[in-house]
Amino acid sequence: MNFHVMTLFPEMIENAMNVSITGRAIKAGHIRVNAVNIRDYANNKHSRVDDYPYGGGAGMVMQAEPVYQCYLDIREKHFSEDGQEKPRVIYLSPQGRVFSQEMAQEYAKEEDLVFLCGHYEGIDERVLEEIVTDYVSIGDYVLTGGELPALVMMDTISRLVPGVLNNDVSAQTESFSDNLLEYPQYTRPEEWNGKKVPPVLLSGNHKLLAEWYRKQSVIRTALYRPDLLEKAELSEEERKLVQSIESGD
Ligand code: SAM
Repeated sequence: MNFHVMTLFPEMIENAMNVSITGRAIKAGHIRVNAVNIRDYANNKHSRVDDYPYGGGAGMVMQAEPVYQCYLDIREKHFSEDGQEKPRVIYLSPQGRVFSQEMAQEYAKEEDLVFLCGHYEGIDERVLEEIVTDYVSIGDYVLTGGELPALVMMDTISRLVPGVLNNDVSAQTESFSDNLLEYPQYTRPEEWNGKKVPPVLLSGNHKLLAEWYRKQSVIRTALYRPDLLEKAELSEEERKLVQSIESGD
């Protein structure tokens, strides 16, 4: 999977992606990160890429042309030989659709994704109309730039790329996979600060373990994220359990 990132701060993308699990995935060739500096496409002496907004108002706006030239260059170098193929371009924006695990699963099927990171008050609307295919937000709050949101997306998508996690099963059983949160986890020692690991986890009985995991997932979701349960498939018994949690029994 190839991630191309159009940004004013390529070192921020590279530094964050080159460590830990994503760093190993890059070394192993499972993912590739191509961070491209939009400033390199500024056509003026001081490499300026922003200007005042028409109509007035606070802050500066990134100009269309450097962003467009950066996009054309990526398209020519990395997409079909004549550079005509239109890549999927995600503009990170608080105005976009809020990112979710389900969206990450969709994006993980792509071979290439291009991320466009805004800064200042955003980017000239005309270039967005020209090149952007998807508008994605990471939540209802405003950050200073699109780099952290792009990193959040790349990290989440990378974990779903085959080979990136040592144990691919973990991505399938994690929170949100069945519209449920994951059950609580424990590791050694067996007793810590007077608290014991639930005995079922030491039983080695796979059937009992599977039942316990499932029940704990349902309980957690009912307690912390009851909104997710609307889409979860629950048995009659599980529905009763949820009702008793909701009524505080
Ligand atoms: N003026 C814009 C508005 O009110 O919608 C906000 C611009 S923000 C200060 C600068 C850049 O940060 C945006 O262009 C976008 O790329 C990024 N950004 C900020 N918050 C974001 C969020 N919640 N999700 C994704 N990107 C975000």
